[in-house]
Amino acid sequence: MEKELMSLHQQAAQELSAVNDLNELQDAKVKYLGKKGILTGILRNMGNLSKEERPRIGQMVNDIRIKLEDIITGRTEELKEKELLIKLKSETIDVTLPGRRTNLGHKHPITLTMDNIKNTFMRMGFTVAEGPEIENDYYNFEALNLPKDHPARDMQDSFYITPEFLLRTHTSPVQARTMQSCEPNSPVRVIVPGKVYRRDYDATHSPMFHQVEGLVVDNGIRFSDLKGTLELFIHEIFGSDVNVRFRSSFFPFTEPSAEVDISCVMCKGKGCRVCSGTGWLEILGSGMVHPRVLEMSNYDPELVSGFAFGMGVERIAMLVYGIDDLRLFYDNDLRFLRQF
Ligand SMILES: [Zn+2]
Repeated sequence: MEKELMSLHQQAAQELSAVNDLNELQDAKVKYLGKKGILTGILRNMGNLSKEERPRIGQMVNDIRIKLEDIITGRTEELKEKELLIKLKSETIDVTLPGRRTNLGHKHPITLTMDNIKNTFMRMGFTVAEGPEIENDYYNFEALNLPKDHPARDMQDSFYITPEFLLRTHTSPVQARTMQSCEPNSPVRVIVPGKVYRRDYDATHSPMFHQVEGLVVDNGIRFSDLKGTLELFIHEIFGSDVNVRFRSSFFPFTEPSAEVDISCVMCKGKGCRVCSGTGWLEILGSGMVHPRVLEMSNYDPELVSGFAFGMGVERIAMLVYGIDDLRLFYDNDLRFLRQF
């Protein structure tokens, strides 16, 4: 019996030392010390032993139990540590790996140009006004001195929604809307950035494009104010070395009217394909507000005067960035857009 116990002890000790993880340790523990374990079974059968043998064998079994429990405690610590190490190793972060960069977008070249134009005028004391893109016939044409039978209406091929409503063909309707929202004859100094719509599509025209309109009305506003304001603006956007030229023109809503040209930014005025050999590029239309336009918005042309101007943002962006096809702005080609 004693020999049996000794070899059992040896076997159990060996098995406990050989386990590789906590699960195996638990299995081995149950095998020897569990309720139905081998050692427990021996204690349960003590009744079969003689009176003399019982205390000695009982003592031996208890000693073995204590020794095995010591081994189990030691092994538990050891295995827990081992598992923790494995876990730590699997969670290790290699700080020398290159980071994963998030792709941040940025402003579209048209928005950048628009912001640049807006900021330039805001530094000159202009505020920003806005108006609806679906406009009625009155504001888009009539309030701008373009009555129903006016031939100038043919200049703009429009998108009509109903006979009365259309997609605005310019940002000029906001001129009348702004003046009508003010006290009659009170000063106005606004720019109107926004989308406009015309039935055109080629390398320099898109059915939807952006304009910035400007309007200044006050006592004693003269053509020299118009000239000075636009020259300052142009030099801010294109640099102080470009030449500016005012050329007489016609718009129904201004009188007198002027087209504004700058010396070609590509050839510095020598003449090239972009400027069709003339050395000049047309960049905006302007003029003194027509007395009829002031009257229709309850302003008295005897008391106040003003000037207005309008420009295509795409055209300016093309010249600033040297782009020869306007459609590139709307192709959503990232290779193009990432350059800005
Ligand atoms: Zn040129």
